[in-house]
Parts: sequence; C-alpha cells; structure tokens
Amino acid sequence: MAAFKEAREAEIHVLMVAFSAQGHINPMLRLGNRLTSKGLHVTLATTDVGRNRMLKSNPSTTTASNDTNIRLEFFSDGLSDDFDRWNHIDHFLDSIGKFGPTNLSKLINDLSGDGHRPKFSCIISNPFVPWVVDVAAQHKIPCALLWIQPSALYALYYRFFHHLNSFPTQSDPNPTVYLPGLPPLQTADLPTFVLPSNTITGFPKLLSELFKSHMKKFKWILGNSFYELEKEVVDSMAQLCPIRPVGPLVPSTLVGLSEGQGGDNDIGVDMWKPEEKCIEWLDRRSVSSVIYVSFGSVTVLSEKQMENIAMALKNSDRPFLWVLKSKDNAVPVGLPAGFLEETEDRGLVVSWCTQTKVLAHPAVACFMSHCGWNSTLETIAAGVPMIACPQWTDQPSNAKLIVDVFEMGVRVEPDPDGMVSKEEVERCIVEITKGPKSEEMKRKGVQWKEAAKNAVAEHGSSDQNIQIFVDEIVGMHSLAPSMAPHSMTMTTSEESPMLEGAKG
Ligand code: UDP
Repeated sequence: MAAFKEAREAEIHVLMVAFSAQGHINPMLRLGNRLTSKGLHVTLATTDVGRNRMLKSNPSTTTASNDTNIRLEFFSDGLSDDFDRWNHIDHFLDSIGKFGPTNLSKLINDLSGDGHRPKFSCIISNPFVPWVVDVAAQHKIPCALLWIQPSALYALYYRFFHHLNSFPTQSDPNPTVYLPGLPPLQTADLPTFVLPSNTITGFPKLLSELFKSHMKKFKWILGNSFYELEKEVVDSMAQLCPIRPVGPLVPSTLVGLSEGQGGDNDIGVDMWKPEEKCIEWLDRRSVSSVIYVSFGSVTVLSEKQMENIAMALKNSDRPFLWVLKSKDNAVPVGLPAGFLEETEDRGLVVSWCTQTKVLAHPAVACFMSHCGWNSTLETIAAGVPMIACPQWTDQPSNAKLIVDVFEMGVRVEPDPDGMVSKEEVERCIVEITKGPKSEEMKRKGVQWKEAAKNAVAEHGSSDQNIQIFVDEIVGMHSLAPSMAPHSMTMTTSEESPMLEGAKG
C-alpha cells in the first residue's frame, strides 16, 4: 500500500506500444491493469487499424479503454485501413517498420506537451515492433519488452539467432534439437520460422533483428507466462539474457484476481463482435460434455481440413461449439453441405465468442486449439484439457509443451501432406474425453489452474516480479533528470536489482 501511494504521488506514466493484433494488445492491457493497480499511469498506443477494428466490434470504444484508467492512443503504420495486412504480411511489416518510428515519435512528443522532461518514465514494447526500443532511446526513456510467447520460445529463439545450439539445416533437416530446460525437440516441435522450409520472410527478419541487435538495449524483459509453469527454461536463461514472467496475463476472472490487484474489471478488446448466445447455449449442456473448437484470430483452415473436423465432430456424438471466423460475422463458408442442419441439436457454429467465458464454463470438456499462446494460457488458467492442432509460428512448440511438459493434452498427428484426417481427430476426441490418460490430464489441468492463480495472487511469483519492475521505475523516476541514455544499457544477471527478487 505504501508502494502504491509512493508511485501514485510521483505521477509516473508508462507508455505501452503494441502491434495491432488482439493477441498482442490484450496481454499488454492486462499488464497495464496490474501496473495501474500498483500506482502507475498507463497509456497504450497501437496502430490506427487497431482502432478501426475495435470501433467496428464495439462502437463505444473511445480514447480510453472501457472501464479502466488506461488511455488508448493510435499512430499510422503507413497503410490505408482497407489494406489486407495479413495476406501481404511482409509488405505490412516493411511499412510499419518504415513509418512506425516517426509516427510513434511524434505521438510521444504530442503527449508530452512542452514539459522539460519526457512524460513517460518507461516504454513497454512487444516483439513485432522491435524498433520501439530505438524510439525510446531517442526520447531518453528506458524500455522494457513484454515477450508474449512462452519463455521456452524466448530461450529457443535466443539460442537459434545466437548460434548457441544445433538446429535443422538444409543438409540436416531433421536433427533432434537439445536445449537446456526443454525436452528433446523434433522438427515438428520447432517454431516454423527456424525451419529451412519456412517461406515467410518478414517475421523471421523481425525476430532476428530483435534477438541479435535489439535485445541488449532493453532494460527489462518481461514474459507472459509464470515461473512455476516454465521454471527450468526460465532458469536456463538467467545467465544469458534473463526473462521475468509476469503472467498469465489473462482476464482477471480466470485467475481470481482481487479488486486491489486490478481484478475489478476484465480488461481486453475484441477485434470481432462476440456472439453472446454461446453462454446460454452452454448453460443448456451437461457438465464436461462440450468440445470447444477454435483456431484463433489469424488461421484460416482449408475446406478439406474443415470437412475432416466437421465429420469427426458429427461422428463424436458430443455437443460442440466451433468458432469459424468469417468476414463481418457472416455465415461461415466451406462447411460440408447439410452439416449445420444435421448437427443443429447438439452443435453451435459461431463467428466469434468471448473465449475466456467459454473456457471457464463447466460444460466445456476440452478445447481443440491451434495452440496460440494466449489461448494456451487461457486454457491453463481455466484448467481445461486440450487437443493440440498447431499450424505455424510458435504453435508447434506450444503443442509440445502442452502434451509433454504441462501434460494436459493430446496432439493430432497430421498425414504426410499436412492434412489431419477425420479418423485422427476422432482418435484425439476419444483419447482426451475417455482414454486411459484422460483423468490424469484433467487432474493436471486443475493443478495448473491453481498454480496460475497463485502466481498472480498477492506475493505470488508474477505479482512480485511486477512489483520489482514498478519499484525500479519509481526509483529511476526519482533520480531523473540525471538519468542519461547510457544508463539504459541491458541489465545482466549481476547488475539488475530486478533479478534479486522473485524467482522467474
Ligand atoms: N478469441 C476470442 N474469441 C474467439 C476466438 C479467440 O476471444 O472466438 C481470443 C482468445 O481468447 C485469445 C485470442 O483471441 O485471447 C487469440 O490469441 P492466440 O494467441 O491464441 O492466437 P492468434 O489469434 O494470435 O493466432
């Protein structure tokens, strides 16, 4: 309480800058919420396209995020609103890298007014806008990174980009990869961006820049995970380039945060309008009966893949709730003819739902997921077993963690052409709902749910890491304006006071 008062009285402002995807903005907002609960003032800036999406799904969105003290601000990524960013991802990333720095810098100046020192005592950036750390340095503001994938991926990319371990190459495409703190990894367990077969250039380029040249400029690296979940891998980075878990950054209702910790509202934005009927539909299903299926906000399945999943759900004889994202909440295209009619007594297909409410519903038995990290953390916090169906980027590694480290799920085995057959989906549904390991996976789910709650509770590992971060910002603020840019060099495990505190 004394720390809160000290921070509040010092009027300390933090600026968060996020790539405008739901899975990037929401963890930032939730961290922002916890920082405001510890006395800081928080502003979140993202690109104009984020504002336009938010306005579309919730016309009451204004410059302040609903029900919180977090201000929202926007800057241009240099592209028009109707430019199809995800289908021209490399062009999009080039454009935001080119125009983002100037536009963000102008925003910082505008928000700072004509004060003698910058309005912001700290900037928190996330991984797909690595140039933010240079903008922060120009303004003489220390910068933190919020890593929004598992700590395991942070460690893996660090080791990959610094050539510390052996990874697949053109001449040896399928070695077993051994990394500290992780089980042996096969090619199918690695993030697609490190594979020789990867054809996307923009994201690996960003990650390479981030790990090779930007990482050492951050004063703090925070992670959306919790120490108990990834203890070994977090410890494995302590001497190299430490990461401090501050999560899971999921809605407070999932982890039972108290009011004083920012738990009085479920902060977050929806880029699409959720269909509210899901919850009353779930209310009418029996406990632990429903298969929930979603592939997140980006992945689009092929028609053949959709058909195989549809047939497996139909044959399962279980109720199912399937999110099939479609343009502007229209009826989804690509489902087999007659599927919706034939399953209408036990199946519901929607274009978007409030996933965290769905996962917390007692009717949900399991989640068939693409294993995006936000979805994975939400599932862990809800204690629900998973059918892992990874597609690209970090998802294959997340699937490996879910099955072999967290031990709360099964993973589909695709055919050699990458397609997951109807029979394989059926096998996984049987295995997770009534196979010999199903009870053990449920038990693990409950254990992780408890551990997640404890990590964010007052004095839990993540709460302590956040408090140490806040104390450092408060300490630096009171030293300003003598704070010079050279004092922003990367912390090492020897020098960072933050590292002396909570584990993780
Ligand atoms: N989500 C949601 N409603 C849906 C599907 C997904 O609110 O119908 C949310 C989900 O709760 C998660 C985010 O969208 O927070 C997806 O993020 P994730 O990292 O799992 O995957 P991505 O969309 O980035 O691939």
